[in-house]
Order: sequence, then structure tokens, then C-alpha cells
Amino acid sequence: MKTATRSSFGKRSLLAAALGLLALTGLAQPAAAEERAKDLFGAEKLPTATAPQSFGFYSKGCFAGGVAIPMDGPTWQVMRPSRNRRWGHPALIALIEKLSRDAVADGWPGLLIGDIAQPRGGPMLTGHASHQIGLDADIWLTPMPDRTMTRAQRETMSATLMVDDKTHLVKDALWTPAHTALLKRAASYPQVERILVNPGIKKKLCDTVKGDRSWLRKIRPFWGHDYHFHMRIGCQPGSPTCKEQEATPDDDGCGKPLAWWFTQEPWRPNKNPDAPKARDLMTMANLPRECRAVLDAPGPASAEAATYNGSAVPVAVAAPEPEAPSLPATTASSTEGLPSALNAFTATPEVGVPVPRPRPPGN
Ligand SMILES: [Zn+2]
Repeated sequence: MKTATRSSFGKRSLLAAALGLLALTGLAQPAAAEERAKDLFGAEKLPTATAPQSFGFYSKGCFAGGVAIPMDGPTWQVMRPSRNRRWGHPALIALIEKLSRDAVADGWPGLLIGDIAQPRGGPMLTGHASHQIGLDADIWLTPMPDRTMTRAQRETMSATLMVDDKTHLVKDALWTPAHTALLKRAASYPQVERILVNPGIKKKLCDTVKGDRSWLRKIRPFWGHDYHFHMRIGCQPGSPTCKEQEATPDDDGCGKPLAWWFTQEPWRPNKNPDAPKARDLMTMANLPRECRAVLDAPGPASAEAATYNGSAVPVAVAAPEPEAPSLPATTASSTEGLPSALNAFTATPEVGVPVPRPRPPGN
């Protein structure tokens, strides 16, 4: 009797366990049945042939009407061309070209352009939490060589590591006034809302910039960014569902928040390095719903047809004032159902009031 009871209980609990497992599996892995957004956006070779528009946030969105920066210009060269990440909102591409000209006038030999965005933005297969809505660009801290590099050279040439790994301070033998001038020029544009650099670079600027220091407000310390800096412009006109980031504080950022970066706290090893990244979990349901239409929209005949030439593509350069952000319902609802850890990654972390956090993926 006892045996029978136990056996029957055993069966029932097995069944319950199996059902529970099924339910758990169903709950935990809706993503398995649905394609990951990074696979869909990572496969796009061309932008949409529609008006430029950004949807969502820098770290959770997509964009339409992208244009490519030409592989070469008189004052720039595109690096790592095989990645096909030289796409952006026309306003950003125009600004990068302007920066390249202004930088040369300031004494910098020309820009080496790193990743901008995929043709239709969205999460990437590798690297970068942000760069999703066509408004972020990485620019190398290595001066452009005085020759046109081959494709192979652009794939393999190393960037210069500007910061000592152990002290987190800039390598003084490498830093020049021209580096400072380049960052100052980039920060001078009203469209640019923030520039991400390694904390060591921020400290170098804090310690050495004389006279006008107002632009330091836009220079934000962040992990990585020791080979390149990251220039971010604000939401552009014509993108009503583009979500503004928080405004930077008014001060130069050289005080307490910077000091935090020179404590042990930010550099502790990630306790869970194998945890999935946001880009590994995001499905289309997590992105603004317009991103489905962005994937489905027709493209141009070729990359050449969508390459920026400075005049053929209408450019809106006036950034809106950074007022309180209004988040449309479509993007607000897109965060539902995400694991909380994912939400922590989605807004690019800022350190106005620094709190310990695990080191996020490269940005
Ligand atoms: Zn970047």
C-alpha cells in the first residue's frame, strides 16, 4: 500500500515536474521561437530607401533612410570595411565629414572612421550596446596615415592604445595637443550631446584644458574608449519616436564622478562574464514596433546609390533642445517582458551619480 501510494505520488510529482518544466521553458525562452533582432538586423546589407528617421533609443532601436559615408574622402578613411557599419542618419554622416575637415584645419591629419551603424541599425552581432539608431559614431584616436590604405590594411591596422591598463592614465608619450583639439572640435557642435572617452582621457583633459572648459561637460568617461572616442548626436527632426537621452550635468564633470573611476570599484572583474548580453536576448518584440517595418522596407539599388555625397540627400542638422524626453507608447511597451538584467543594459549607463555596476560589453 505504502509502495503504491508512493509510486502514484511519484508519478504525479514527475508529471507535475514535467509540466512545470514545460511551463518554465515556455516562459524563459519565448526568444527561442522568435528570431533574435541582432540576426535580422545583422543580415541587412542595405538601408531602407525611405526618409531618414530614428526609432527608439541608442541602445534599443533602429533607423530608416540611412546613408553610407564614402570609404574615402579628402580628410577621412573608413576602417574595418568588411563590417559594413559605415551607415548613419544623414545628419550624422554630414557632421562626421564636417568634423574631418575642421579637424584637418585644427592640425589633425584626418579621421579614421570606426563603427557607425548597420544599414538599418538595430542590435549588432558583435560589440556595441548602442549604435542602433544611426546617431553614434566611433572615431579612432590614431591619426590618419598620409596614404590611402588598401582594404587589407584597413582590416588589420591596429589602433593606438592611449591609456595604461593598470593606472588608467593616459600614456603621456602618445597624447598630443592635437588629440585635445580634436575632442574639443567634436564637442563644439550643437548637435553633439556627448562624447564617450576612457576615464584616463577625461582626466587628461580635466588636468590640462585651460581657458574655455565648458565643452568638457559633453566629454563623458566610460569603460573602453581607449583606442577611439564615441560621438553621439541628439534625436533629429523628423524622428518623433526617437527617445532623447538625459541631458549631461552642467558642470565640467571633473570632480567626484571622475574620481570614482580611479577607485577599485569600476574595475572589479565581472562576476558573471558568461551572462547573456542584451543583444543576445533582444527579439523584435523588444524593439519599437516600427523596426519590423524598417526590416521589411525596400532598399536602394546598391550601396553606391545610398552613399552620402554631401548634397543629394536632404540633411536636417538642427538638433532639438534636450527637453524632458517624451517616450511614445510604442517604445515604452517594448520593454515589457524583458528580464530585469536586460533593462539595466538598455540605457547606456551614465555616471552622474556613480554606482557600482558590472563592466558592460564594449560600447
Ligand atoms: Zn561607440
